[in-house]
Amino acid sequence: LKTTDDILTKDAHLIQSFANLDALKQNDARTAIVGAEGIHVTDSEGNKLIDGIGGLWCVNVGHGRREIIDAITEQLNTLDYYSTFYNFTHPAAAALADKLASLAPGNLNRVYFGNSGSVANDSAIRMLHHYNNRLGRPNKKKILSRMGAYHGSTHLAMAMTTPGYSEEWDTAADGLVHHLMEPCAYHQAEPGMSDAEFLDVLVEDMEKAIHDIGAENIACFIAEPIMGAGGVLVAPDGYHKRMREITAANDIKYIADEVVTAFGRLGAMFASEDVFGMQPDIINTAKGLTSGYQPLSATIISDEIYDVISEPGAMFLHGMTYSGHPAAAAAGLANIEILEREDIPGQVQVTGKIFENALRGLGDLDIVGDVRGSHFMMGLEFIKDKSTKTAFDADDNVGGKVAKHAQDRGLIARALGNSLILSPTLILDADNIASIEAILRDSISATMDDLKA
Ligand code: PLP
Repeated sequence: LKTTDDILTKDAHLIQSFANLDALKQNDARTAIVGAEGIHVTDSEGNKLIDGIGGLWCVNVGHGRREIIDAITEQLNTLDYYSTFYNFTHPAAAALADKLASLAPGNLNRVYFGNSGSVANDSAIRMLHHYNNRLGRPNKKKILSRMGAYHGSTHLAMAMTTPGYSEEWDTAADGLVHHLMEPCAYHQAEPGMSDAEFLDVLVEDMEKAIHDIGAENIACFIAEPIMGAGGVLVAPDGYHKRMREITAANDIKYIADEVVTAFGRLGAMFASEDVFGMQPDIINTAKGLTSGYQPLSATIISDEIYDVISEPGAMFLHGMTYSGHPAAAAAGLANIEILEREDIPGQVQVTGKIFENALRGLGDLDIVGDVRGSHFMMGLEFIKDKSTKTAFDADDNVGGKVAKHAQDRGLIARALGNSLILSPTLILDADNIASIEAILRDSISATMDDLKA
């Protein structure tokens, strides 16, 4: 497939994710990406674009890393596939599990591999069902999640995601999941409320849910350290620690969904402990685990949970053909080697802050209502009137307009209604960051002109 027309003709048979499929019937609504190197991708028209969303929050070490590609090829030449079912294992899955156990905080030492973040989250819940059944409390299976969350697109992961994602089928109605308040002060705090006061509101909401549902019926609380796809929503300082204390006191397991935040994006291998100062019972990761070079996820559980589900006589009845796929595990190992050797999390503590500050600087523009996030995980929320906090209409799609202008100027950013998300590769230098800032400033100004016209 050489030309854009060739690709888009065949693409009529491809169903894109989270897309307005009708709009995609117009060829010019689609972009075919045909190559990638470092911080850039190339489209089928030959345009070189800065990948401002790191593929999809995942290409942490940058595109085209020869070492990862070679590790995958070498693995396929040695052992193309074998499963980790029954009593089988293989060197790549074993080595990566060992590596993750050494990197994950505290007693999180046991790893179940899947092939997506959604599957990592579903697997964690299934493991907790096993755990609670072994402990003779089969009713302890309700899940506390949060408004604004995104945990994936399998049935269960979508039920844990904020209601409203899946218009035609609100899976949360199944009754398994209770959604706590969205923890983002910009949207939820009363005017004039301090961070500490807002945190008290969130704590009260959590305590009320536990009281109403009964701790004996609740298996877990699941939370992204910073909510990503919900619009980069940041909870007040101290939130995760407080929630950890409350869940621990009520014998409710804490699942940290680190599908986006792990492997350097916030300046640490895992954000839970190093950034937010708490140790969950389970960490789920995917995306940056292989920097997207292969599909792979990991559900990393505590020894305490593992000891129960591996008691004499217990059968772990969960499995996926590609769990720990050799090529994916090899990619994960090579990726982590790069992250460690180049100390990418350490670099991000510096460059990620430059990025964050550059984006915060855009807050002086009239329609930029809020700039949220941390390091290389940032969101801009556009607003009609800053002084009254009047929002744009949902179909104004200001994020889409800004993203289109940005792409025309050489930057891919992700539109999300009236917000824009930036989650670039983690190897940007100060000059790259200055270019991104300049493109965004121009693109937002051009959108302001469009809106006036
Ligand atoms: N959890 C979080 C926090 C995510 O951001 C995502 C995807 O964006 C997922 C889970 C689902 O991952 P996947 O798309 O690999 O199933």
